[in-house]
Amino acid sequence: MDLAFTRDEEAFRAEARSWLRAHVPAVALPSLETAEGFAAHRAWEAELAADRWSVVDWPAAYGGRDSGLIRWLLFEEEYHAAGAPGRVGQNGVSLLAPTLFEHGTEEQRARVLPPMACGRTVWAQAWSEPEAGSDLASLRSKALRTDGGWLLTGQKTWSSRAAFADRAFGLFRTDPDTPKPHQGLTYLMFDLRAPGVTVRPIARLDGRPAFAELFLDEVFVPDEDVIGEPGQGWRIAMSTAGNERGLKLRSPGRYLAAADRLLDLWRTQGCPASTRDRVADALIGARAYQLFTHAAASRVLDGEALGPESSLNKVFWSEYDIALAETALDLLGEEGESADTDWAERYVFALAGPIYAGTNEIQRDIVAERLLGLPKGRR
Ligand SMILES: Cc1cc2nc3c(=O)[nH]c(=O)nc-3n(C[C@H](O)[C@H](O)[C@H](O)COP(=O)(O)OP(=O)(O)OC[C@H]3O[C@@H](n4cnc5c(N)ncnc54)[C@H](O)[C@@H]3O)c2cc1C
Repeated sequence: MDLAFTRDEEAFRAEARSWLRAHVPAVALPSLETAEGFAAHRAWEAELAADRWSVVDWPAAYGGRDSGLIRWLLFEEEYHAAGAPGRVGQNGVSLLAPTLFEHGTEEQRARVLPPMACGRTVWAQAWSEPEAGSDLASLRSKALRTDGGWLLTGQKTWSSRAAFADRAFGLFRTDPDTPKPHQGLTYLMFDLRAPGVTVRPIARLDGRPAFAELFLDEVFVPDEDVIGEPGQGWRIAMSTAGNERGLKLRSPGRYLAAADRLLDLWRTQGCPASTRDRVADALIGARAYQLFTHAAASRVLDGEALGPESSLNKVFWSEYDIALAETALDLLGEEGESADTDWAERYVFALAGPIYAGTNEIQRDIVAERLLGLPKGRR
């Protein structure tokens, strides 16, 4: 096995590093869970896109560099090491875009992807409903056929960024009479400012409107905004879910940079022996995740599917993030409890990691049944 990068890959990394050094804002942008911060992060996406750094692995026709997965991982490492802003377009870029690449039409890709790449259209994910979280197939929101499209009615919840976003993608029941709940679902895109849509923000622990509930009352969606065939929504959504948990949502660069910051913090706090092992675990964990992810990316490039390994990744990064932030807060002591330290903010967000993108209990079931071949548990 050769773990070295090619000369071209190293040149790509150097180019990304020098661009980021010249462009990353010297002062951190305001939180993207505020209207002001959302606008500032959109402007940052436009700056990235102007030099084709916003979606490096996409085809050039849609604003990318056709760089492939390995260069994307290298870019992500440089991005996080440079302390660059959080990505406001993440739902669109890491969830909807792969879905459109796999299941969308050429017309949809040409229409949807370029404005997504530069932050002009920011997307929210509208999957969860009050009675449909882990058991997503029990969703009740429906889409009824009408002239030239569909009318959406129902309620979605926990939609991240929907308080400020422009459009959403979600699953709707188009056939209520199917024998199984995951049949008769359709995957479609809609406008959050269309007549009939009410967006009610939900505050996070720190009071910021990081999510929203969506109330839909006969919202018109044209046929051109259906992804794949009507009734095939479940199959399409499962490929999106694999992307969410697997490679694209949480790249190792995020954890390598955070582990380095933790080491710096440990040193500035006088290298206390009580936290030495936890800091070492964080450094080793980030490196192990990096190697695991690079191996997974290589397999994908060789034409293999990610499969249930995505669930392993998801459990790993979500639990890793909590341990990392807890160690930092322990090192900071009382100072760390202030909501103004970015470690405190990271901790609050990390707590949600075992819940979003499919809870860790569900992921562990997938690992047990599909990777380890254990019998189904009692539900
Ligand atoms: C920060 C954050 C961001 C989110 N963003 C979005 C978003 O943008 N769009 C969106 O659509 N949704 C979003 N969600 C919602 C998220 O997808 C759901 O919270 C998640 O799927 C769990 O569903 P639930 O909250 O209904 O919990 P439930 O499904 O009610 O689960 C409650 C508990 O029971 C356990 N449980 C349930 N069923 C089983 C089972 N069969 N076996 C073992 N244990 C089980 C769960 O693991 C969990 O611990 C977000 C959530 C969070 C926290």
